[in-house]
Amino acid sequence: MSASKITIVGAGLSGLVAGINLCREGYEVEIWDAAKSLGMLEDFHPSIHATPIDPARVSNYIGIDISPCFTPVKRFRMIVEKEKFDLNPVNYYLVERGGRKTSIDTYLYNIAVDMGIKVHFDHYVRRLDDIPERAVVATGFDKEGMEAIGVPYDQGTGAYARKKLDDPRFEDALMGWSGKYSTDYGYLSVANDLMFFLVFTRYPMTDENIEECKRHLEESEGLTFPKWSKHSGTTPVLGKDSLKLFKGNRVLTGTICGMIDPAGMFGIHGALMSGKIAELAYTDTERALEDFERFNKNFHRVRVVSAAMRRMPMRLPMAHLMMRFPRLMTPSLKMIDDAVPGYDGHWAVDMMKGRTIVKD
Ligand SMILES: Cc1cc2nc3c(=O)[nH]c(=O)nc-3n(C[C@H](O)[C@H](O)[C@H](O)COP(=O)(O)OP(=O)(O)OC[C@H]3O[C@@H](n4cnc5c(N)ncnc54)[C@H](O)[C@@H]3O)c2cc1C
Repeated sequence: MSASKITIVGAGLSGLVAGINLCREGYEVEIWDAAKSLGMLEDFHPSIHATPIDPARVSNYIGIDISPCFTPVKRFRMIVEKEKFDLNPVNYYLVERGGRKTSIDTYLYNIAVDMGIKVHFDHYVRRLDDIPERAVVATGFDKEGMEAIGVPYDQGTGAYARKKLDDPRFEDALMGWSGKYSTDYGYLSVANDLMFFLVFTRYPMTDENIEECKRHLEESEGLTFPKWSKHSGTTPVLGKDSLKLFKGNRVLTGTICGMIDPAGMFGIHGALMSGKIAELAYTDTERALEDFERFNKNFHRVRVVSAAMRRMPMRLPMAHLMMRFPRLMTPSLKMIDDAVPGYDGHWAVDMMKGRTIVKD
């Protein structure tokens, strides 16, 4: 094999960003992906993800202008049982995932293919030994991948639903729901012409929980979906082995390197930025290690808060408290506020500054 050839396993966010940057640096890049076609792993996609982000600054760091993929949130609402709160949407963006023309995956994939990168689909890697030594592992939430690398993870379950945008009230909206049916929360994110709802929880989501959740959406906002599906999956959790840039000679990126926490608001961020770090691991290892440590130091605060929240048995009263008395929450919001790297604003505190109680 040519010394300049690098195989990337996983054509998701981090794998594509790594591939584009490595190709630009003169490496011959080949990407293998388990899915039959782009973004089609499981049935989750097409989906809309939400994140606080500064698209220009992240574009600058990763060297790819990803800002056309991000839609600013127009309407940001939290519903805690029967109470409704409108929040300040500044700093929040929506981004489509999956294989449709309007997704960030397609946007990055087209750049990669135009540069001459070969992407092979339907290529599931079962063992670390099945990939060359010069490889980047970017297999996301894949359980076997996490086990092969030794990433600590938790099992989560939930349900999701989607439909074509059919009501202008929800255009570019981000809305969250908390109720007894979930230990965590559910959220609706809407961009392009797609409405996507996802609820997750730490315990098995029963049919009864799903029915309760459906009722909550319908009674609070008149929102219904034609079809619901259950999901279960793995997410990396905080542990002494959660952060690793290398496994032997292989470079790790995205979920598998531990630099993401979807519940802690840096799923998209961490994946994009760690994709660039994977390129640096080959071209400037010292800088890669420095950046990996620097970004994760910031993310660590979010991760700690997020892990504490996950362990909290009384999530619902906490949500009530947070929305009713935002000032009380300011110190902990400040703690995580500037933890998203490359971020000048105060996304968590700003979100609460505009908070109003909705009276129907
Ligand atoms: C339904 C859902 C909703 C989410 N919502 C949000 C959100 O609102 N905000 C947020 O910030 N984050 C969210 N996230 C998290 C975010 O999507 C991830 O943080 C991000 O995609 C991680 O990027 P990645 O590159 O690690 O993995 P992915 O982008 O998932 O890419 C992994 C790729 O690896 C491939 N693959 C997996 N296993 C193998 C294998 N063994 N062999 C070959 N190929 C393999 C897969 O097919 C896939 O293409 C959500 C995730 C999901 C699933």
